[in-house]
Amino acid sequence: MTDGTAATGGSAGRAAPLIDPFGRAISYVRVSVTDRCDFRCVYCMSEHMSFLPKAEILSLEELDRVCSTFVRLGTRRLRLTGGEPLVRRGIMTLIRSLGRHLRTGALDELTLTTNGSQLAKYAEELRAAGVRRVNVSLDTLDPDRFAAITRWGRLPQVLDGLAAAKAAGLEVKINAVALKGVNDGELDTLLSWCGREGFDLTLIEVMPLGDIDGDGGSNARVEQFLPLHAVRADLSRRWTLQEIDYRTGGPARYVRVAETGRRLGFITPMTHNFCESCNRVRLTCTGTLYMCLGQEDAADLRAALRASDDDAALEQAIRAAIARKPKGHDFIIDRRSGPAVTRHMSVTGG
Ligand code: SAM
Ligand code: SF4
Repeated sequence: MTDGTAATGGSAGRAAPLIDPFGRAISYVRVSVTDRCDFRCVYCMSEHMSFLPKAEILSLEELDRVCSTFVRLGTRRLRLTGGEPLVRRGIMTLIRSLGRHLRTGALDELTLTTNGSQLAKYAEELRAAGVRRVNVSLDTLDPDRFAAITRWGRLPQVLDGLAAAKAAGLEVKINAVALKGVNDGELDTLLSWCGREGFDLTLIEVMPLGDIDGDGGSNARVEQFLPLHAVRADLSRRWTLQEIDYRTGGPARYVRVAETGRRLGFITPMTHNFCESCNRVRLTCTGTLYMCLGQEDAADLRAALRASDDDAALEQAIRAAIARKPKGHDFIIDRRSGPAVTRHMSVTGG
């Protein structure tokens, strides 16, 4: 990315903020910067994925323009995700460039969700660019189970990445998908390990996104689905879980684990409706804006981006999309229905 690009799309000239039809201010954008990944997690991707051709994918400059336009329209937090954001070529150029909005105070936070495989390489650079926190997805500390879940991933690589993140001064939160019969026997171990490492932990319910096993996606996920209210009840037999009023602006609800002093979060899209406080939208790497993770309706920002170098059309397309943001989602896991929405999590980003 050239210096010229970094100078455009600045946060100067702040416009009227984005408010959806239900009065929710949209201040958080998650951006999937690639649909590719170096892992093939069983709940996320099939083993043989076909990825998008390059022409469909927003360039780094285009991603910068969209993100910067959102910042001008009141976005305070940007989270880069994927696919695996750190396997996108040139990703640090984009992250360094977006860091300018932190320095001007237009943006409160620039962060990412990563599988950790590239953190050993990038942790220092991320910190230098202004990133302060990262979410790292890690479902198990057992090397064989890790290889089974991620198919292509290797645990030591991720543990090295986590050590590098800590050494660089990045705050780490671990995201673990709770999977029945897979890692549910290991949650105590994960909780105490996070306590020792100084990491918060968030447990996520598996969501019915995309076909992962060729049967329409429902059966494997019915087997894997583990309601977190049951997990919480079970953990509370051995751990002191204290109610706290901590919110990150995301859907997680947190408790403090008295024994470790760390926070434990629960993301329960299946059993708890968190839509009423939703402040976010999601952009895919092709420039499609999803106003809700659980609904098909989307807006094409790429056409507006490519139609003109001026950001006015883009801004108008964003405003029109926000005016259509739905009230909430409607996930169902049952054996008769297929996935609630047909796209994979790696498309919209987690
Ligand atoms: N590759 C990065 C990572 O794994 O952190 C970022 C993208 S990944 C799609 C984001 C998050 O979505 C991860 O924490 C992953 O565990 C979660 N995820 C993927 N598929 C899911 C599903 N079907 N249900 C619930 N969480 C899912
Ligand atoms: Fe890749 Fe993240 Fe999906 Fe796993 S969850 S396959 S690491 S995008």
